[in-house]
Amino acid sequence: MINVTLIGTGGMIPTPNRFLSSCLIEYNGKSVLIDCGEGTQISLSKGKISMNKIDAILITHCHADHVTGLPGLLLTVGNSMRTEPVYIIVPKGFANIINSLLIVCGFLPYEVRIVEISENKQQQFEFIGLNITSFPLRHHISCLGYSFELILKPRFLPEKAEKLNIPLNLWKILHNGNSVTHENSMYTPDMVLGKSRKPIKISFATDTRPVKSINEAVANSDLFICEGMYGDDELYDNAVEKKHMLFSEAALIAKDSNVKELWLTHYSPSLVNPEQFLEQAKKIFPNTVAGYDLMTKKIIPESEEE
Ligand SMILES: [Zn+2]
Ligand SMILES: [Zn+2]
Repeated sequence: MINVTLIGTGGMIPTPNRFLSSCLIEYNGKSVLIDCGEGTQISLSKGKISMNKIDAILITHCHADHVTGLPGLLLTVGNSMRTEPVYIIVPKGFANIINSLLIVCGFLPYEVRIVEISENKQQQFEFIGLNITSFPLRHHISCLGYSFELILKPRFLPEKAEKLNIPLNLWKILHNGNSVTHENSMYTPDMVLGKSRKPIKISFATDTRPVKSINEAVANSDLFICEGMYGDDELYDNAVEKKHMLFSEAALIAKDSNVKELWLTHYSPSLVNPEQFLEQAKKIFPNTVAGYDLMTKKIIPESEEE
């Protein structure tokens, strides 16, 4: 089970009712934060969310609304006496900006490891037990989206193991996908495992124009979180010029990518009430939700729903 929380849903500047775009993915008692604009740590503490459990911060790009909260957040984590390293992942060419921001932190009781990754092709890595893939977006500067996958092992079927008289101490080996020989009998995983299961997948894409590479990267997500800078389709020219998206464009990606649910985020400060334009998006992709700060959801495996 993965827990997803929108820490902030604003673009450009924080407003009294909306912190800047940021998202927390929690799994197994650890977490990964996407972006850290001004005020991110305030929203985290409003939501009573532990900052000490953040193992990695994935930065989409180095516009101020996505990074200027880093020094404050890292200092707060330092006050809780964390000693394990925190990773900051950035598109290639941005490590200097992050390093400059961190100068004001002075001493931290843990190591901050800044890792640059490719800005123009997909790259895979792993944090907190999730497979993470970065993918290029189209913005004014290099910008990355991220998808998260939890690989689910097939279920172990004890009734099958019992029928075959497989000793209990071999069950775990078989569930891990390994064959085992015992008293001249060979047991293979397929004898005791159920059918393969679809991974849990969550994807995140801000700030960007709609491009085909997003569709491929977010395909079949259980949850797709996407920017919706403008609700009104009449603001198309603004979206093109500022390299952002309309609600309807995000909804079209969701529809074409066979995702289950779309959350909109990264709203323009001028968009006071995103719900006002939600129907337009729902006409294209019915399961569209207007995200709000501290909106949260547990994503569970498909077969365990209901
Ligand atoms: Zn932004
Ligand atoms: Zn931006």
